[in-house]
Amino acid sequence: MHMTIKNRQRLSAEARAIICDTREAAAAAALIHGASKTCAAALGRGLSAGALLKSAFIKDATAFAKPLRLTLTLNGGGPAGKLIVVAGEDVLKATLDNPTAELPLKNGKLDVGSAIGSDGRVTVVRDLGLKEPYVGQTEMLSGEIAEDVAMYCTASEQIPTLCALGVRVADTEDGKAYGVVSSGGVLVQTLPDCSEETLRNLEARAELLASISELLLDYSREGEECLPKLARGLFGGFDVEIMEQKRLEYRCDCSRERMEKALITLGRDELNDIISSQHGAQLVCHFCENRYDFTEPELRGLIRM
Ligand SMILES: [Zn+2]
Repeated sequence: MHMTIKNRQRLSAEARAIICDTREAAAAAALIHGASKTCAAALGRGLSAGALLKSAFIKDATAFAKPLRLTLTLNGGGPAGKLIVVAGEDVLKATLDNPTAELPLKNGKLDVGSAIGSDGRVTVVRDLGLKEPYVGQTEMLSGEIAEDVAMYCTASEQIPTLCALGVRVADTEDGKAYGVVSSGGVLVQTLPDCSEETLRNLEARAELLASISELLLDYSREGEECLPKLARGLFGGFDVEIMEQKRLEYRCDCSRERMEKALITLGRDELNDIISSQHGAQLVCHFCENRYDFTEPELRGLIRM
């Protein structure tokens, strides 16, 4: 699909669902980080999770008329290392400590759960540009990301949540490379006056939701209508009203100014050490691999700031 859109539906007034298609962003992340297949899937799932959570919490953000910047960190102790995703108004990016880590298939599927690990915490930081960001944490459940995010919403935010994330990675014809052919996710949250019947009805769709990457592939021929049609397919029987649609793409918001700030926070002594030992510094953004060079006079200028 050429266009990536995000839907936000309100199912009568008993639940809400958010669906995202992150194929383009996931493909970009895999390329930037030179990711293994399993890590490409982890990055894609992470990007979907970040976009879904940001959209789910946007209601709080608009109350303050401030844009929300959400940072999701999964630190499960697996070989791929820590996964960090940032989703905001003009940013959607992800990074992994060891993006080339690869694991054998598990039951014929990419083993994202083992790559990320489940011995650690899920941390969600919601920054509204106020003095203190809101920080929530829960224990990791499986490292599969969708379950971890659903558990976070249910336990930390007290919102009953169903989450499914999927990434399909396929080899190229010559078998020498691979591509991300679909990536996306769906988040369903019940509203306070949700009936038991609706709750059971939604829970019964969990298996269908879990096939989100296949569904996105099936519906991709619908072009721009892909997500609205998929949403109506997933939640047939409900009155689906689409509230918002937005294009998603991989975008990093790093800048020379941010890098300068990072250098300044190192402190005078550390900067003097760098000047005397390296006569300059090169900082690499972990999210987009952009390089920022600082000369010795520039570093001296930062010390005086
Ligand atoms: Zn960057």
